[in-house]
Amino acid sequence: ERNSLSDLDIARQADIRPIGDIAATAGINAEALELYGRYKAKVDPARLDAPAPAGKVVLVSAMSPTPAGEGKSTTTVGLADSLARAGHKVMIALREPSLGPILGMKGGATGGGYSQVLPMDEINLHFTGDFHAVTSANNALMALVDNHIYQGNELNIDPRRMTFKRVLDMNDRSLREVVIGLGGPAQGVPRQDGFDITVASEIMAVFCLATDLADLRDRLGKITFGYTYDRAPVTVADLGVQGALTLLLKEAIKPNLVQTIAGTPALVHGGPFANIAHGCNSLIATQTARRLADIVVTEAGFGADLGAEKYMDIKARLADVAPSAVVVVATVRALKMHGGVAKDKLTAPDLEALLAGVDNLRRHLRNVEKFGVTPVVAINRFATDTQEELDWLLEWCATEGVEAAVADVWGRGGGGDGGDELAAKVAAVLSAPNSFRHLYSLDLPVEEKIMSIVQEIYGADGVDFSVPALKRLADIKKNGWAGLPVCMAKTQYSFSDDASRLGAPKGFTIHVRDLIPKTGAGFIVALTGAVMTMPGLPPVPAAMRMDVDDAGNPVGLS
Ligand code: ADP
Repeated sequence: ERNSLSDLDIARQADIRPIGDIAATAGINAEALELYGRYKAKVDPARLDAPAPAGKVVLVSAMSPTPAGEGKSTTTVGLADSLARAGHKVMIALREPSLGPILGMKGGATGGGYSQVLPMDEINLHFTGDFHAVTSANNALMALVDNHIYQGNELNIDPRRMTFKRVLDMNDRSLREVVIGLGGPAQGVPRQDGFDITVASEIMAVFCLATDLADLRDRLGKITFGYTYDRAPVTVADLGVQGALTLLLKEAIKPNLVQTIAGTPALVHGGPFANIAHGCNSLIATQTARRLADIVVTEAGFGADLGAEKYMDIKARLADVAPSAVVVVATVRALKMHGGVAKDKLTAPDLEALLAGVDNLRRHLRNVEKFGVTPVVAINRFATDTQEELDWLLEWCATEGVEAAVADVWGRGGGGDGGDELAAKVAAVLSAPNSFRHLYSLDLPVEEKIMSIVQEIYGADGVDFSVPALKRLADIKKNGWAGLPVCMAKTQYSFSDDASRLGAPKGFTIHVRDLIPKTGAGFIVALTGAVMTMPGLPPVPAAMRMDVDDAGNPVGLS
Protein backbone atom coordinates (compact mmCIF):
# COMPACT_ATOMS: atom_id res chain seq x y z
CA GLU A 1 0.00 0.00 0.00
CA ARG A 2 2.85 2.31 0.95
CA ASN A 3 4.43 1.82 -2.46
CA SER A 4 1.30 3.02 -4.23
CA LEU A 5 1.63 6.48 -2.68
CA SER A 6 3.28 9.11 -4.86
CA ASP A 7 6.12 11.32 -3.62
CA LEU A 8 3.59 14.16 -3.42
CA ASP A 9 1.12 12.02 -1.38
CA ILE A 10 3.85 11.13 1.11
CA ALA A 11 5.04 14.74 1.33
CA ARG A 12 1.51 15.97 2.01
CA GLN A 13 0.91 13.39 4.75
CA ALA A 14 4.18 14.28 6.49
CA ASP A 15 4.16 16.02 9.82
CA ILE A 16 5.79 19.31 8.86
CA ARG A 17 7.06 21.55 11.70
CA PRO A 18 7.19 25.35 11.81
CA ILE A 19 10.52 26.42 10.29
CA GLY A 20 11.42 28.39 13.44
CA ASP A 21 11.57 25.09 15.37
CA ILE A 22 13.90 23.57 12.78
CA ALA A 23 16.08 26.69 12.87
CA ALA A 24 16.27 26.53 16.66
CA THR A 25 17.41 22.89 16.66
CA ALA A 26 19.95 23.73 13.93
CA GLY A 27 21.40 26.45 16.17
CA ILE A 28 20.32 29.41 13.99
CA ASN A 29 19.82 32.60 16.03
CA ALA A 30 16.60 34.57 15.51
CA GLU A 31 18.41 37.62 14.02
CA ALA A 32 19.74 35.48 11.18
CA LEU A 33 16.36 33.95 10.29
CA GLU A 34 14.05 35.61 7.73
CA LEU A 35 10.70 33.81 7.44
CA TYR A 36 9.14 33.14 4.03
CA GLY A 37 5.77 31.82 5.19
CA ARG A 38 5.51 29.07 7.82
CA TYR A 39 7.82 26.42 6.43
CA LYS A 40 10.55 28.28 4.56
CA ALA A 41 13.11 30.81 5.71
CA LYS A 42 16.27 32.48 4.52
CA VAL A 43 19.37 32.46 6.67
CA ASP A 44 21.56 35.56 6.58
CA PRO A 45 25.16 34.35 6.98
CA ALA A 46 26.27 37.86 7.96
CA ARG A 47 23.98 37.81 11.02
CA LEU A 48 24.56 34.18 11.91
CA ASP A 49 26.02 33.67 15.33
CA ALA A 50 28.05 30.54 14.59
CA PRO A 51 31.76 29.65 14.36
CA ALA A 52 33.81 29.47 11.14
CA PRO A 53 33.04 26.59 8.73
CA ALA A 54 34.36 23.31 10.15
CA GLY A 55 31.82 20.57 9.33
CA LYS A 56 32.97 17.62 7.24
CA VAL A 57 31.48 17.26 3.77
CA VAL A 58 29.90 14.07 2.40
CA LEU A 59 29.48 14.43 -1.35
CA VAL A 60 26.71 12.31 -2.86
CA SER A 61 27.33 11.39 -6.48
CA ALA A 62 26.34 8.45 -8.69
CA MET A 63 27.09 6.05 -11.49
CA SER A 64 26.13 7.32 -14.97
CA PRO A 65 22.42 8.12 -14.85
CA THR A 66 19.85 6.21 -16.89
CA PRO A 67 16.14 6.83 -17.46
CA ALA A 68 15.63 4.07 -14.83
CA GLY A 69 16.55 6.63 -12.10
CA GLU A 70 19.30 6.43 -9.49
CA GLY A 71 17.98 8.45 -6.56
CA LYS A 72 20.84 10.77 -5.58
CA SER A 73 18.61 13.37 -3.91
CA THR A 74 16.64 10.60 -2.20
CA THR A 75 19.88 9.09 -0.88
CA THR A 76 21.27 12.51 0.16
CA VAL A 77 18.17 13.18 2.26
CA GLY A 78 17.92 9.63 3.63
CA LEU A 79 21.61 9.45 4.52
CA ALA A 80 21.45 12.77 6.36
CA ASP A 81 18.36 11.62 8.29
CA SER A 82 20.14 8.36 9.17
CA LEU A 83 23.27 10.18 10.34
CA ALA A 84 21.05 12.44 12.47
CA ARG A 85 19.30 9.34 13.87
CA ALA A 86 22.71 8.00 14.86
CA GLY A 87 23.29 11.15 16.92
CA HIS A 88 25.39 13.29 14.57
CA LYS A 89 24.75 17.00 14.06
CA VAL A 90 23.87 17.06 10.38
CA MET A 91 22.76 19.53 7.77
CA ILE A 92 21.88 18.98 4.12
CA ALA A 93 22.96 21.27 1.26
CA LEU A 94 21.00 20.71 -1.96
CA ARG A 95 20.31 22.52 -5.21
CA GLU A 96 17.00 24.20 -5.98
CA PRO A 97 14.97 22.44 -8.68
CA SER A 98 14.54 24.00 -12.12
CA LEU A 99 11.00 24.39 -13.49
CA GLY A 100 12.03 23.32 -16.99
CA PRO A 101 12.76 19.67 -16.13
CA ILE A 102 9.87 19.55 -13.62
CA LEU A 103 7.33 20.37 -16.31
CA GLY A 104 9.29 18.26 -18.80
CA MET A 105 10.68 14.84 -17.98
CA LYS A 106 11.93 14.66 -14.45
CA GLY A 107 9.11 15.75 -12.20
CA GLY A 108 10.24 16.97 -8.77
CA ALA A 109 13.81 17.20 -7.50
CA THR A 110 13.30 17.12 -3.74
CA GLY A 111 14.07 13.43 -3.12
CA GLY A 112 11.47 10.67 -3.09
CA GLY A 113 9.44 8.26 -0.99
CA TYR A 114 10.08 8.83 2.73
CA SER A 115 13.31 10.74 2.06
CA GLN A 116 12.19 14.16 0.86
CA VAL A 117 12.64 17.83 1.71
CA LEU A 118 9.46 19.78 2.51
CA PRO A 119 7.36 21.65 1.47
CA MET A 120 7.91 19.57 -1.65
CA ASP A 121 5.53 21.46 -3.95
CA GLU A 122 6.76 24.92 -3.01
CA ILE A 123 10.44 23.99 -3.35
CA ASN A 124 9.71 22.49 -6.77
CA LEU A 125 7.72 25.49 -8.00
CA HIS A 126 8.62 29.11 -7.19
CA PHE A 127 10.16 28.51 -3.73
CA THR A 128 11.61 31.81 -2.45
CA GLY A 129 12.05 33.36 -5.89
CA ASP A 130 15.81 32.87 -6.24
CA PHE A 131 15.58 31.63 -9.84
CA HIS A 132 13.39 34.61 -10.67
CA ALA A 133 16.11 36.88 -9.26
CA VAL A 134 18.85 35.13 -11.26
CA THR A 135 16.71 35.29 -14.42
CA SER A 136 16.03 39.00 -13.83
CA ALA A 137 19.70 39.82 -13.24
CA ASN A 138 20.67 37.93 -16.39
CA ASN A 139 18.02 39.62 -18.52
CA ALA A 140 18.67 43.05 -17.00
CA LEU A 141 22.26 42.69 -18.17
CA MET A 142 21.17 41.85 -21.71
CA ALA A 143 18.64 44.70 -21.81
CA LEU A 144 21.39 47.07 -20.66
CA VAL A 145 23.80 45.73 -23.28
CA ASP A 146 21.31 46.10 -26.13
CA ASN A 147 20.37 49.56 -24.90
CA HIS A 148 24.06 50.50 -24.87
CA ILE A 149 24.38 49.44 -28.50
CA TYR A 150 21.18 51.34 -29.41
CA GLN A 151 22.29 54.52 -27.60
CA GLY A 152 25.46 54.86 -29.67
CA ASN A 153 27.64 51.92 -28.64
CA GLU A 154 30.45 53.80 -26.98
CA LEU A 155 32.11 50.51 -26.01
CA ASN A 156 32.27 49.47 -29.69
CA ILE A 157 30.47 46.16 -28.95
CA ASP A 158 30.22 43.89 -31.99
CA PRO A 159 26.60 42.58 -32.01
CA ARG A 160 27.79 39.57 -34.00
CA ARG A 161 30.23 38.49 -31.28
CA MET A 162 27.95 38.36 -28.26
CA THR A 163 28.64 35.34 -26.00
CA PHE A 164 25.88 35.93 -23.45
CA LYS A 165 22.20 35.14 -23.98
CA ARG A 166 18.88 35.90 -22.36
CA VAL A 167 17.49 33.13 -20.11
CA LEU A 168 14.20 31.59 -18.95
CA ASP A 169 13.62 28.86 -16.36
CA MET A 170 11.79 26.73 -18.91
CA ASN A 171 12.55 24.04 -21.49
CA ASP A 172 11.71 25.99 -24.63
CA ARG A 173 13.45 24.83 -27.79
CA SER A 174 11.76 27.46 -29.95
CA LEU A 175 13.75 30.19 -28.21
CA ARG A 176 17.18 28.68 -28.90
CA GLU A 177 17.73 30.98 -31.87
CA VAL A 178 15.88 34.30 -32.19
CA VAL A 179 16.35 37.65 -33.92
CA ILE A 180 15.78 40.74 -31.79
CA GLY A 181 15.49 44.45 -32.49
CA LEU A 182 13.35 44.13 -35.62
CA GLY A 183 10.87 46.86 -36.59
CA GLY A 184 12.89 49.92 -37.51
CA PRO A 185 15.30 52.44 -35.97
CA ALA A 186 13.19 53.06 -32.84
CA GLN A 187 13.09 49.35 -31.89
CA GLY A 188 16.75 48.74 -31.21
CA VAL A 189 19.59 47.32 -33.27
CA PRO A 190 18.73 43.98 -34.89
CA ARG A 191 20.96 41.05 -34.04
CA GLN A 192 20.82 37.30 -33.79
CA ASP A 193 20.27 36.23 -30.18
CA GLY A 194 18.94 33.21 -28.28
CA PHE A 195 17.82 31.95 -24.90
CA ASP A 196 19.45 29.50 -22.48
CA ILE A 197 17.75 27.87 -19.52
CA THR A 198 18.34 29.87 -16.29
CA VAL A 199 20.37 27.07 -14.70
CA ALA A 200 22.88 27.43 -17.57
CA SER A 201 23.32 31.18 -16.99
CA GLU A 202 26.75 32.36 -15.93
CA ILE A 203 24.91 34.47 -13.34
CA MET A 204 23.70 31.20 -11.77
CA ALA A 205 27.26 29.85 -11.72
CA VAL A 206 28.56 33.11 -10.21
CA PHE A 207 25.74 33.02 -7.65
CA CYS A 208 26.79 29.52 -6.62
CA LEU A 209 30.55 30.16 -6.49
CA ALA A 210 30.59 33.56 -4.77
CA THR A 211 31.98 33.52 -1.23
CA ASP A 212 30.05 36.62 -0.07
CA LEU A 213 28.29 39.73 -1.36
CA ALA A 214 31.54 41.57 -2.19
CA ASP A 215 32.86 38.55 -4.10
CA LEU A 216 29.49 38.27 -5.89
CA ARG A 217 29.82 41.89 -7.12
CA ASP A 218 33.43 41.33 -8.14
CA ARG A 219 32.58 38.16 -10.10
CA LEU A 220 29.56 39.76 -11.78
CA GLY A 221 31.83 42.61 -12.91
CA LYS A 222 34.27 40.11 -14.44
CA ILE A 223 31.67 38.42 -16.68
CA THR A 224 32.61 38.72 -20.35
CA PHE A 225 29.42 39.09 -22.39
CA GLY A 226 30.90 39.69 -25.82
CA TYR A 227 33.68 41.27 -27.87
CA THR A 228 34.33 44.61 -29.53
CA TYR A 229 34.79 45.12 -33.28
CA ASP A 230 38.52 44.93 -32.45
CA ARG A 231 37.92 41.54 -30.77
CA ALA A 232 38.70 42.74 -27.27
CA PRO A 233 36.53 41.20 -24.52
CA VAL A 234 33.82 43.42 -23.00
CA THR A 235 32.85 42.86 -19.36
CA VAL A 236 29.98 43.82 -17.08
CA ALA A 237 32.40 46.16 -15.29
CA ASP A 238 33.08 47.94 -18.62
CA LEU A 239 29.34 48.58 -18.79
CA GLY A 240 29.33 49.59 -15.09
CA VAL A 241 26.28 47.56 -14.01
CA GLN A 242 27.76 45.02 -11.56
CA GLY A 243 26.26 47.05 -8.72
CA ALA A 244 22.73 46.86 -10.16
CA LEU A 245 23.03 43.12 -10.76
CA THR A 246 24.25 42.60 -7.18
CA LEU A 247 21.29 44.61 -5.93
CA LEU A 248 18.91 42.32 -7.82
CA LEU A 249 20.51 39.30 -6.11
CA LYS A 250 21.00 40.61 -2.57
CA GLU A 251 18.11 38.66 -0.99
CA ALA A 252 18.38 35.61 -3.24
CA ILE A 253 21.99 35.07 -2.19
CA LYS A 254 20.92 34.13 1.37
CA PRO A 255 20.48 30.32 1.67
CA ASN A 256 16.97 28.85 2.06
CA LEU A 257 16.21 26.72 5.11
CA VAL A 258 13.71 23.84 4.89
CA GLN A 259 13.31 20.44 6.58
CA THR A 260 13.23 16.77 5.66
CA ILE A 261 10.27 14.52 6.49
CA ALA A 262 12.30 13.37 9.51
CA GLY A 263 12.99 16.98 10.58
CA THR A 264 16.65 17.29 9.53
CA PRO A 265 17.54 20.90 8.55
CA ALA A 266 18.37 21.43 4.88
CA LEU A 267 19.72 24.42 2.97
CA VAL A 268 18.36 24.34 -0.60
CA HIS A 269 20.10 27.04 -2.60
CA GLY A 270 21.20 27.72 -6.18
CA GLY A 271 20.95 25.19 -8.96
CA PRO A 272 23.30 25.03 -11.94
CA PHE A 273 22.96 21.86 -14.07
CA ALA A 274 25.90 19.47 -13.93
CA ASN A 275 26.05 18.69 -17.64
CA ILE A 276 26.33 22.30 -18.87
CA ALA A 277 27.49 24.08 -15.70
CA HIS A 278 29.27 23.03 -12.49
CA GLY A 279 26.26 21.31 -10.88
CA CYS A 280 26.21 21.94 -7.13
CA ASN A 281 24.39 24.17 -4.65
CA SER A 282 25.81 27.55 -3.61
CA LEU A 283 29.15 27.73 -1.87
CA ILE A 284 27.54 30.11 0.62
CA ALA A 285 24.99 27.43 1.57
CA THR A 286 27.67 24.74 1.89
CA GLN A 287 29.78 27.01 4.10
CA THR A 288 26.78 28.11 6.18
CA ALA A 289 25.90 24.44 6.75
CA ARG A 290 29.53 23.75 7.73
CA ARG A 291 29.26 26.47 10.40
CA LEU A 292 26.14 24.88 11.87
CA ALA A 293 26.73 21.13 11.63
CA ASP A 294 29.50 18.58 12.09
CA ILE A 295 28.51 16.74 8.92
CA VAL A 296 27.15 18.32 5.74
CA VAL A 297 25.60 15.99 3.18
CA THR A 298 25.56 17.59 -0.26
CA GLU A 299 24.85 16.41 -3.79
CA ALA A 300 26.66 16.95 -7.06
CA GLY A 301 24.51 16.52 -10.17
CA PHE A 302 24.46 13.57 -12.59
CA GLY A 303 27.27 10.98 -12.57
CA ALA A 304 30.60 11.31 -10.76
CA ASP A 305 32.28 12.09 -14.12
CA LEU A 306 30.35 15.40 -14.21
CA GLY A 307 29.11 16.79 -10.87
CA ALA A 308 31.73 15.22 -8.63
CA GLU A 309 34.69 16.05 -10.89
CA LYS A 310 33.52 19.67 -11.05
CA TYR A 311 32.95 19.80 -7.30
CA MET A 312 36.56 18.70 -6.76
CA ASP A 313 38.21 20.73 -9.51
CA ILE A 314 36.10 23.92 -9.46
CA LYS A 315 34.21 24.42 -6.19
CA ALA A 316 36.81 22.84 -3.89
CA ARG A 317 39.48 25.22 -5.24
CA LEU A 318 37.56 28.29 -4.03
CA ALA A 319 37.11 27.27 -0.41
CA ASP A 320 37.97 24.50 1.96
CA VAL A 321 34.97 22.33 1.03
CA ALA A 322 36.76 19.18 -0.18
CA PRO A 323 34.70 16.10 0.67
CA SER A 324 35.87 13.72 3.39
CA ALA A 325 33.77 10.95 1.84
CA VAL A 326 32.03 10.42 -1.50
CA VAL A 327 28.87 8.33 -1.71
CA VAL A 328 28.35 6.78 -5.13
CA VAL A 329 24.68 5.89 -5.60
CA ALA A 330 24.03 2.81 -7.73
CA THR A 331 20.91 0.80 -8.44
CA VAL A 332 20.49 -2.74 -9.69
CA ARG A 333 18.16 -1.42 -12.39
CA ALA A 334 20.59 1.19 -13.72
CA LEU A 335 23.46 -1.31 -13.69
CA LYS A 336 21.36 -3.72 -15.75
CA MET A 337 20.62 -0.95 -18.21
CA HIS A 338 24.34 -0.25 -18.54
CA GLY A 339 24.68 -4.00 -19.10
CA GLY A 340 22.42 -3.81 -22.14
CA VAL A 341 18.91 -4.49 -20.78
CA ALA A 342 16.03 -2.40 -22.22
CA LYS A 343 14.14 -0.06 -19.87
CA ASP A 344 10.94 -2.16 -19.93
CA LYS A 345 12.77 -5.41 -18.98
CA LEU A 346 14.58 -4.15 -15.88
CA THR A 347 12.39 -5.88 -13.30
CA ALA A 348 13.44 -9.39 -14.40
CA PRO A 349 16.42 -10.75 -12.39
CA ASP A 350 19.51 -10.82 -14.63
CA LEU A 351 22.90 -11.43 -13.02
CA GLU A 352 24.64 -11.55 -16.37
CA ALA A 353 23.51 -8.00 -17.23
CA LEU A 354 24.54 -6.87 -13.77
CA LEU A 355 28.02 -8.28 -14.38
CA ALA A 356 28.24 -6.42 -17.69
CA GLY A 357 26.88 -3.15 -16.29
CA VAL A 358 29.05 -3.01 -13.22
CA ASP A 359 32.00 -1.78 -15.31
CA ASN A 360 30.32 1.61 -15.31
CA LEU A 361 30.29 1.72 -11.51
CA ARG A 362 33.90 0.52 -11.31
CA ARG A 363 35.17 3.39 -13.46
CA HIS A 364 33.34 5.94 -11.27
CA LEU A 365 34.77 4.39 -8.08
CA ARG A 366 38.33 4.40 -9.40
CA ASN A 367 37.81 8.02 -10.46
CA VAL A 368 36.75 9.09 -6.97
CA GLU A 369 39.90 7.47 -5.58
CA LYS A 370 41.99 9.61 -7.95
CA PHE A 371 40.96 12.62 -5.86
CA GLY A 372 42.31 10.93 -2.74
CA VAL A 373 38.83 10.42 -1.25
CA THR A 374 37.29 7.10 -0.19
CA PRO A 375 34.06 6.16 -1.98
CA VAL A 376 31.16 4.33 -0.34
CA VAL A 377 28.60 2.66 -2.61
CA ALA A 378 24.96 3.29 -1.66
CA ILE A 379 22.82 0.65 -3.31
CA ASN A 380 19.47 2.42 -3.54
CA ARG A 381 17.02 -0.44 -3.17
CA PHE A 382 14.00 -0.73 -5.47
CA ALA A 383 11.09 -3.05 -4.62
CA THR A 384 11.82 -5.13 -7.74
CA ASP A 385 15.45 -5.90 -6.76
CA THR A 386 15.95 -9.55 -5.75
CA GLN A 387 17.98 -10.50 -2.69
CA GLU A 388 20.26 -12.50 -4.98
CA GLU A 389 21.03 -9.41 -7.08
CA LEU A 390 21.66 -7.24 -4.01
CA ASP A 391 23.94 -9.89 -2.46
CA TRP A 392 25.82 -10.26 -5.72
CA LEU A 393 26.42 -6.50 -5.89
CA LEU A 394 27.56 -6.29 -2.25
CA GLU A 395 29.93 -9.18 -2.91
CA TRP A 396 31.26 -7.45 -6.02
CA CYS A 397 31.94 -4.24 -4.06
CA ALA A 398 33.80 -6.30 -1.45
CA THR A 399 36.04 -7.88 -4.10
CA GLU A 400 36.71 -4.38 -5.48
CA GLY A 401 37.76 -3.32 -1.99
CA VAL A 402 34.99 -0.73 -1.67
CA GLU A 403 32.60 -0.28 1.26
CA ALA A 404 28.95 -0.65 0.28
CA ALA A 405 25.52 -0.82 1.89
CA VAL A 406 22.00 -1.43 0.66
CA ALA A 407 19.85 1.58 1.56
CA ASP A 408 16.07 1.58 1.65
CA VAL A 409 15.64 5.22 2.56
CA TRP A 410 12.99 5.64 -0.15
CA GLY A 411 10.77 2.88 1.27
CA ARG A 412 11.51 3.14 4.99
CA GLY A 413 12.84 6.68 5.32
CA GLY A 414 16.15 7.78 6.73
CA GLY A 415 14.27 8.60 9.93
CA GLY A 416 13.42 4.89 10.03
CA ASP A 417 16.16 2.26 9.86
CA GLY A 418 16.50 2.17 6.04
CA GLY A 419 19.85 3.97 6.00
CA ASP A 420 21.49 2.92 9.28
CA GLU A 421 24.12 0.71 7.70
CA LEU A 422 24.99 3.27 5.04
CA ALA A 423 25.27 5.99 7.69
CA ALA A 424 27.59 3.83 9.81
CA LYS A 425 29.87 3.14 6.84
CA VAL A 426 29.98 6.80 5.84
CA ALA A 427 30.70 7.87 9.44
CA ALA A 428 33.60 5.41 9.57
CA VAL A 429 35.11 6.88 6.38
CA LEU A 430 34.66 10.40 7.77
CA SER A 431 36.71 9.61 10.83
CA ALA A 432 39.56 8.06 8.80
CA PRO A 433 42.22 10.38 7.35
CA ASN A 434 42.15 11.22 3.63
CA SER A 435 44.45 13.06 1.28
CA PHE A 436 42.31 15.15 -1.06
CA ARG A 437 43.89 16.41 -4.26
CA HIS A 438 42.64 18.08 -7.43
CA LEU A 439 42.88 16.11 -10.66
CA TYR A 440 44.96 18.71 -12.51
CA SER A 441 47.05 21.76 -11.75
CA LEU A 442 45.75 25.13 -12.95
CA ASP A 443 49.21 25.88 -14.41
CA LEU A 444 48.72 23.33 -17.18
CA PRO A 445 47.70 24.62 -20.63
CA VAL A 446 43.91 24.46 -21.20
CA GLU A 447 44.28 21.60 -23.71
CA GLU A 448 46.15 19.54 -21.14
CA LYS A 449 43.58 20.20 -18.43
CA ILE A 450 40.89 18.96 -20.81
CA MET A 451 43.10 16.01 -21.76
CA SER A 452 43.52 14.97 -18.15
CA ILE A 453 39.75 14.99 -17.57
CA VAL A 454 38.92 13.06 -20.74
CA GLN A 455 41.66 10.47 -20.26
CA GLU A 456 41.65 10.05 -16.48
CA ILE A 457 37.93 10.45 -15.76
CA TYR A 458 36.12 9.56 -18.99
CA GLY A 459 38.57 6.88 -20.16
CA ALA A 460 38.84 8.43 -23.64
CA ASP A 461 41.84 8.02 -25.92
CA GLY A 462 42.05 11.73 -26.55
CA VAL A 463 40.31 14.90 -27.55
CA ASP A 464 39.57 16.49 -30.86
CA PHE A 465 39.06 20.28 -31.11
CA SER A 466 36.87 21.82 -33.82
CA VAL A 467 38.27 24.71 -35.85
CA PRO A 468 36.18 27.29 -33.89
CA ALA A 469 37.34 25.70 -30.61
CA LEU A 470 40.98 26.07 -31.68
CA LYS A 471 40.37 29.73 -32.46
CA ARG A 472 38.84 30.23 -29.01
CA LEU A 473 41.81 28.50 -27.46
CA ALA A 474 44.09 31.09 -29.04
CA ASP A 475 41.83 33.91 -27.73
CA ILE A 476 41.84 32.39 -24.25
CA LYS A 477 45.64 32.45 -24.18
CA LYS A 478 45.80 35.97 -25.62
CA ASN A 479 43.32 37.32 -23.05
CA GLY A 480 45.13 35.78 -20.08
CA TRP A 481 42.43 33.26 -19.12
CA ALA A 482 44.50 30.09 -19.53
CA GLY A 483 44.89 29.67 -15.76
CA LEU A 484 41.18 28.95 -15.22
CA PRO A 485 39.82 25.44 -14.49
CA VAL A 486 37.70 23.69 -17.11
CA CYS A 487 33.97 22.96 -16.86
CA MET A 488 33.09 20.18 -19.28
CA ALA A 489 29.64 20.31 -20.91
CA LYS A 490 28.90 16.69 -21.81
CA THR A 491 25.98 14.29 -21.93
CA GLN A 492 25.30 12.75 -18.52
CA TYR A 493 24.35 9.35 -19.92
CA SER A 494 27.76 8.18 -21.09
CA PHE A 495 31.42 8.59 -20.19
CA SER A 496 31.79 9.53 -23.86
CA ASP A 497 30.11 12.46 -25.62
CA ASP A 498 27.68 10.05 -27.32
CA ALA A 499 24.64 9.46 -25.08
CA SER A 500 24.04 5.99 -26.55
CA ARG A 501 27.39 4.51 -25.43
CA LEU A 502 26.50 3.09 -22.03
CA GLY A 503 28.60 1.00 -19.65
CA ALA A 504 32.32 1.76 -19.65
CA PRO A 505 33.11 2.54 -23.30
CA LYS A 506 36.67 2.31 -24.62
CA GLY A 507 38.44 3.56 -27.74
CA PHE A 508 36.65 6.87 -28.16
CA THR A 509 37.57 10.52 -28.64
CA ILE A 510 35.86 13.51 -27.01
CA HIS A 511 34.86 16.18 -29.53
CA VAL A 512 35.18 19.74 -28.20
CA ARG A 513 33.08 21.89 -30.50
CA ASP A 514 33.48 25.20 -28.67
CA LEU A 515 35.18 26.78 -25.65
CA ILE A 516 33.36 29.52 -23.74
CA PRO A 517 35.31 31.56 -21.20
CA LYS A 518 33.11 32.27 -18.15
CA THR A 519 35.38 34.87 -16.64
CA GLY A 520 32.97 35.78 -13.82
CA ALA A 521 32.35 32.23 -12.67
CA GLY A 522 36.04 31.59 -13.26
CA PHE A 523 36.05 28.59 -15.56
CA ILE A 524 36.17 27.71 -19.24
CA VAL A 525 33.22 25.70 -20.54
CA ALA A 526 34.19 23.05 -23.08
CA LEU A 527 31.09 22.16 -25.11
CA THR A 528 31.26 18.55 -26.32
CA GLY A 529 29.07 16.44 -28.57
CA ALA A 530 25.51 17.66 -28.98
CA VAL A 531 24.86 18.93 -25.43
CA MET A 532 22.31 21.80 -25.33
CA THR A 533 22.15 24.90 -23.11
CA MET A 534 18.39 25.20 -23.73
CA PRO A 535 16.60 21.84 -23.40
CA GLY A 536 13.33 20.97 -25.13
CA LEU A 537 10.19 19.28 -23.80
CA PRO A 538 9.46 15.57 -24.43
CA PRO A 539 6.44 14.28 -26.46
CA VAL A 540 4.38 13.77 -23.28
CA PRO A 541 5.61 16.37 -20.76
CA ALA A 542 5.09 15.78 -17.02
CA ALA A 543 2.96 18.96 -17.13
CA MET A 544 0.16 16.88 -18.73
CA ARG A 545 -0.66 15.24 -15.40
CA MET A 546 -0.39 18.33 -13.18
CA ASP A 547 -3.27 20.26 -11.68
CA VAL A 548 -4.62 21.87 -8.51
CA ASP A 549 -7.61 20.31 -6.66
CA ASP A 550 -10.65 22.22 -5.41
CA ALA A 551 -9.00 22.79 -2.03
CA GLY A 552 -5.99 24.39 -3.73
CA ASN A 553 -3.64 21.41 -3.27
CA PRO A 554 -1.14 20.46 -5.95
CA VAL A 555 -1.78 17.36 -8.08
CA GLY A 556 0.65 15.30 -10.16
CA LEU A 557 3.94 16.89 -9.08
CA SER A 558 5.42 13.36 -9.38
P1 ADP B 1 18.34 11.88 -8.75
O1 ADP B 1 18.66 12.82 -7.65
O2 ADP B 1 19.41 10.86 -8.96
O3 ADP B 1 17.91 12.52 -10.01
P2 ADP B 1 15.94 11.40 -7.25
O4 ADP B 1 16.39 11.13 -5.85
O5 ADP B 1 15.41 12.75 -7.58
O6 ADP B 1 17.09 11.01 -8.27
O7 ADP B 1 14.86 10.29 -7.59
C1 ADP B 1 14.24 10.26 -8.86
C2 ADP B 1 12.88 9.56 -8.75
O8 ADP B 1 13.09 8.17 -8.44
C3 ADP B 1 11.99 10.11 -7.65
O9 ADP B 1 10.67 10.24 -8.16
C4 ADP B 1 12.04 9.07 -6.56
O10 ADP B 1 10.82 8.97 -5.83
C5 ADP B 1 12.31 7.80 -7.33
N1 ADP B 1 13.08 6.84 -6.51
C6 ADP B 1 14.28 7.08 -5.93
N2 ADP B 1 14.68 5.99 -5.23
C7 ADP B 1 13.70 5.06 -5.37
C8 ADP B 1 13.53 3.71 -4.88
N3 ADP B 1 14.46 3.14 -4.14
N4 ADP B 1 12.40 3.06 -5.25
C9 ADP B 1 11.47 3.65 -6.03
N5 ADP B 1 11.58 4.90 -6.52
C10 ADP B 1 12.67 5.60 -6.19
